Amino acid sequence: PLVLGIETSCDETGVGIVRGHTLLADAVASSVEEHARFGGVVPEVASRAHLDAMVPTIERACETAGIALNDVDAIAVTSGPGLAGALLVGVASAKALALGLGKPLYGVNHLAAHVAVDQLEHGALPEPCLAMLVSGGHSSLLEVADVTQGVEPMGSTLDDAAGEAFDKVARLLGLPFPGGPHIDRAARSGNSFAIDFPRGLTSKRDLERHRFDFSFSGLKTAVARWVEAQQRDGVAIDVADVAASFQEAVCDVLTRKAVDAARHRGIEDILIGGGVAANSRLRVLAEERASAHGIRVRVPRPGLCTDNGAMVAALGSELVARGRAPSALDLPADSSQPLTTVVA
Ligand code: ATP
Ligand code: MG
Ligand code: FE
Repeated sequence: PLVLGIETSCDETGVGIVRGHTLLADAVASSVEEHARFGGVVPEVASRAHLDAMVPTIERACETAGIALNDVDAIAVTSGPGLAGALLVGVASAKALALGLGKPLYGVNHLAAHVAVDQLEHGALPEPCLAMLVSGGHSSLLEVADVTQGVEPMGSTLDDAAGEAFDKVARLLGLPFPGGPHIDRAARSGNSFAIDFPRGLTSKRDLERHRFDFSFSGLKTAVARWVEAQQRDGVAIDVADVAASFQEAVCDVLTRKAVDAARHRGIEDILIGGGVAANSRLRVLAEERASAHGIRVRVPRPGLCTDNGAMVAALGSELVARGRAPSALDLPADSSQPLTTVVA
């Protein structure tokens, strides 16, 4: 099926077009620069930017794919979770297209779409798989038996998301927002053993109750304390060493728990998605640790890990292919759409 997908859950206006597992277009307009001076995404600014970007982004995607809107078999859109006002722009646009073209509408779960996107790069999803979703708003371990039916949460962060930790630590180090890519780059010339930052929820006692959960706020505080102490002593901060040591702490816990969760459920494939999956150290460490237990790791290329419309189209295409029922045309945007609801 030929499916057009729309993503507006945060600060990226994404329109993707896929045919089956083949990516035809992935147009993304980001308002990230408008948020940079605030150090985080400002919901009202994001909604307004989606309004401005929507029509040109749809046009750009159709042009790249070489299709006319009328050719599509279905329209898919992120209906949640995400920023309410931002989601509304995408949902209203998708409804207008579906109604105007007389095509079915699928309001899909953003997190399930982060999982489904991998089929555009590596072909049919391994099911069951253990999905680790790590982004600016989420850090979860999920068991995916059938991505079109729902995913089962095994654990998630109790406080900050992994991407949020990257962004906050980058800010402490004077690096621009969003900080993930800057920390990744700085870490390449740093020593990851320079500072022994804490690994959240890995003590024997924590593991009893939170075996598959994460906590990154203690780590962020530890970095802040360390930076303060250096400044007090008048010692210059080695940004590369702090970045590398912090990144190692995050990736260590993420990969350890992902492999543990997969082994616990007897799952042989780990799929990593979300913006933090673009992290170069995470990709290497996950592969290293999983392969030691005969577990395969799939991570889409970085451009498909951050928010985009192709992931929504990918999930939509799977829903059509597996004959799932579409959404009603009065589909609401649901800022806290649960993981168990793949199609709203
Ligand atoms: P949501 O959580 O709803 O998916 P989001 O916009 O925060 O929304 P993404 O676009 O998937 O999610 O991811 C953005 C996050 O990924 C930011 O926190 C950013 O710092 C982080 N990120 C991007 N590239 C890297 C990288 N190379 N290393 C670490 N973090 C990264
Ligand atoms: Mg984003
Ligand atoms: Fe996302």
